[in-house]
Amino acid sequence: MFRAFLKVADTCPHCGEELYHHRADDFPAYCVIVVVGHVIVTLALVVETEFAPPLWLQAAIWVPATFGLSLALLQPFKGAIVAIQWAAGMHGFERAKRARDAAASAGLAGGAGAKAA
Ligand SMILES: [Zn+2]
Repeated sequence: MFRAFLKVADTCPHCGEELYHHRADDFPAYCVIVVVGHVIVTLALVVETEFAPPLWLQAAIWVPATFGLSLALLQPFKGAIVAIQWAAGMHGFERAKRARDAAASAGLAGGAGAKAA
């Protein structure tokens, strides 16, 4: 669903679902900051209390780890947040959700009728 690292494609390349009206904005970055901060700070505190390595070694480990983990998590978090907006019918996804819900209830009615018949 991405046409670049963090650019969501206008439509899904598989099913054509419109994605251009998502509003992920800065929320993926906030989530990544919270997760990466908790992971890195916890690990840094454990390493400091257990091994007390020199500061240059701490910096050599935690700075690249912070950047790497942040870059690794940004795209999955953005995809998940756009997916949550799609599933909840938020922002521009209301019309698609109404269509899915109508199709599902029509399918349920048809399924129940088929079982009864
Ligand atoms: Zn699709």
